This record gives sequence, C-alpha cells and structure tokens, in this order.
Amino acid sequence: MTDGLRMTPDVMRELAHQVVDILIERRERLPDDRAWDGEFKQDLTARLEEDPPETGRPPRETIERAVRDILSPAMRLDHPRAFGFVPSEPTWPGVLADLLATGFNINAASWLTASGPSQLEAVVIDWFRRWLGYPETAGGVLTSGGSAAALNAFVTAREAADNPPLATVYMSDQSHSAQVRAARIIGIHPERVRVLPTGDDLRLDLATLASAVDADRAAGCTPIAVCADAGSTSTGAVDPLDAVADYCAEHGIWLHVDAAHGGFAAITEPGARLLRGIERADSIGLDPHKWLFQPYETGCLLVRDTRTLERAFAIHHDVLQDSVWGANHPNQADRGLQLSRRDRALKIWMSLQIFGMAAFRAAVAQGIERAERAARYIAASPHLELTTPASLGIVTFRYHPDGAHGEAALERINKDVLARVFWDDRAFLSSTTIRATFVLRMCVINHTTTWDDVRETLETIERFGREAL
Ligand SMILES: *Cc1c(COP(=O)(O)O)cnc(C)c1O
Repeated sequence: MTDGLRMTPDVMRELAHQVVDILIERRERLPDDRAWDGEFKQDLTARLEEDPPETGRPPRETIERAVRDILSPAMRLDHPRAFGFVPSEPTWPGVLADLLATGFNINAASWLTASGPSQLEAVVIDWFRRWLGYPETAGGVLTSGGSAAALNAFVTAREAADNPPLATVYMSDQSHSAQVRAARIIGIHPERVRVLPTGDDLRLDLATLASAVDADRAAGCTPIAVCADAGSTSTGAVDPLDAVADYCAEHGIWLHVDAAHGGFAAITEPGARLLRGIERADSIGLDPHKWLFQPYETGCLLVRDTRTLERAFAIHHDVLQDSVWGANHPNQADRGLQLSRRDRALKIWMSLQIFGMAAFRAAVAQGIERAERAARYIAASPHLELTTPASLGIVTFRYHPDGAHGEAALERINKDVLARVFWDDRAFLSSTTIRATFVLRMCVINHTTTWDDVRETLETIERFGREAL
C-alpha cells in the first residue's frame, strides 16, 4: 500500500475520494450541526500526545481519526449561524483550487518558479485594483492575511519615509490589534504607536490626529503612517477616508487603509459609497478569506505605486540570481515578507470564473442587507438595544429589558446571555466593547446564512436574556 514515502495510484485515489466525501457530507450536514465544538486541553492531550509511530498506520483510519480528534473540535466558521468574529464560508471551487495548487506544488516566489501563477496573481490583483478604483500604477501581493498585509504596509511606509529614527504611526482606538502588532514588529517603540481616541461615531477624529502629529513633530518624531479603518472589525465603522486622505496628502504622511474586513464591499453600490476615498490611500490591506469567500490564508496588500513595495522588499541574493528572467517579469517574493509562497491567486480566480461577478456581488450585498434587517429587528424589540447601526455586515446590540438596570447589571446579564449561546451551540456569537460597554456582536456576512438563521438567533438571545434576569 505504501512504499517508502510513496503510495500506489489506486490508494491515492481511494484516499482522495474518502477526503472529498467527508468534506461534502460535512457541508451538507453543517446547518443542522453545532456552530462550535471544542474540547478541553486535558482531553485532547490524552488523545493526541504521542511520538510518531515507527511504522505507518492504516491511512483510512488515520484520516478518520484526524476528522474526529483534530478537525471536529473546532469552530465551524463557515456555519450559517456562526456570527462571531468574522465568519467565512469558502466557495467549493476555492477549496478545490487550494488542493490543485498544493498538488502541483507551486512555489509562487518568482516568475522562474511559477510563471503561470505569477501572471494570475497579477491578474487577480488587477481586479482588486479596479474594484477599489486604484490607478494603473498600483499593484500588490497576496499575503497570508490582513496581519501580514499590515506588516508589509508599515515596512513599505517606513522605507518610503527613508527609515527615520523616532518614527511614529497613528490609528484609532477602533483599529485592529494586527495594526498595533505590525507596528511593534517593525520596531516602532510602543510609546510612538499613537492609538487615538474616537468620538461617539467611533471614527478617527481629524483634530485629534492633527494635534498628535503636531506634538510629535515638535518633539522631533517623524510620522511615517496613518492607518485608517475601512470597516473596523468591532462595529464596521468606516473612518472619514476622504478627509484623512486630504490630511495625509497635505502633511506628506503615508496613508494605509485597513480594509481587511470591509474592502470587498466595494464591489457593491452601497459598499462603494461607504468606502469612497479608499482609492486615495497609499496602501490598502484586504482579506479575501473574509468577504470574498476564500479559504484561509488569503490576504492582500495593494499599494498605490508598485515600486514602493519593491523598494522596500527586493533584496539581491546570489543563490536566487537566476530568478531574474527578462524585463517586466515580476517576482512576487520581491514584494513582501515571504520567499517560498503558496499559490493564492488560483482559488480567487477559479471561484470568480465559475460563479461570476454577479453572484459575488449579490452575496456581498446580501450580507450588508442582512445586517440592516437584523438592526431593524433589534431596534423594534422591546428587550434588545441597538448599540451601533448596521455597518458592513456587522451589528452590535445588547439585551436591555425594561426597568431600571444599572450598567453593571446589564453587563452581567449580557455576559450570561453570551455564555448561554455559547453552551447552546446552535449559533456562535462573540462580543465587543464599545466605549467601556460590553455588547453582543453579530457579523452576518456568510453567504449561506438565511434570514431565519439570524432571526432565530435573535429570538434565542431574547429568551436567554429573560432567563438570565
Ligand atoms: C481580520 C482583520 C485583520 C487581521 O487579518 P488576518 O487575516 O486575521 O491576519 C486586520 N484588520 C481587520 C480590520 C480585520 O478585520
């Protein structure tokens, strides 16, 4: 059955069929299955901690064991009632494309190692460029996710500013921790990472930004980047992109827009309206593994001028000297952190080829509308309080019954509601904190989610709230 590290074609085929059957059955069952499953460390240690066997075990059983003990005790982020964090339902062509690209053992480092995939990456990035209204000078790189996009963006910004000492970066208190981490990784002193307070609208405040920049410049610091949110992950709030772009242009500071959550809303009309001004950023971070329905890990960094990216990342290495193949043959490894890189463009391309833009546009639009409908339900409910309006597929709220309940009591009740949802398993929800208030949060962008999934979950929350009183 096995020979060294090889298998016969029949065995390979049989195992592949087993895996595909498991995946398809899982998808079929998902709506009736739990939205979350997890085990305690102790149990999983008992099941999994062992040395690898000296001689191989039967492959079928090994695959079954992987499904039972490893893959199942996990969140089903593609479950139609997974509303926590940022859910994602990867398209089936996307999953198959990942298998294909892995099977072809693509290393998308350079044109020499992967000309087809390199060209396709250029094509896909050019789609994104046009969706966002970026100029033709723009280009980019597919990354592991939004965090890597942020890291690459900050390096690019820093190099564009000539790597000054005492560099500072600016973002709002709604920005993703990935931005703060990226700043830390590139060595910005924590004291010079300015996390600016937002007002009631949870958006970056221009006056606050301007006074922080002025104070830093007076103190001898050099601002290298402002990071604006195009859909904060907490509430979907969008910073005033046009105004921030005006400010950054006037003051010569790199503008990075973190659109990891909201960027692909740009393919819809309401989304494009909300994201107006994004095309003026120097760089934009995107996450196709969120709202473009791709398997993990698929992120993207776009820059307004591709040369800035290569200036930051291209470094000669003798052992790679043969990778320079003709003129205008881009090596994607010259545009970011990774040398060896899996192919990430194929899944995006295959999904869009097979379903077409109209289907994607409809799926994204549906997420926006579903959140608005959820917000209307919440606003109309006597027991629920809408804490932020629906924005980019996200709505926040809390259980708030009639009568006098202090903030502490409301927090206790809502934490209790969340715990009940958690142990009930029918849906998965997470929370966030808005101006020191604990609130529940639903992100409803999964394209397989129905209104009934949302409504039933809200009804369950109302019931759990009554029980928690
Ligand atoms: C998800 C997210 C990130 C982090 O992206 P990863 O793909 O998880 O690395 C950064 N910013 C925002 C706004 C996000 O939603």
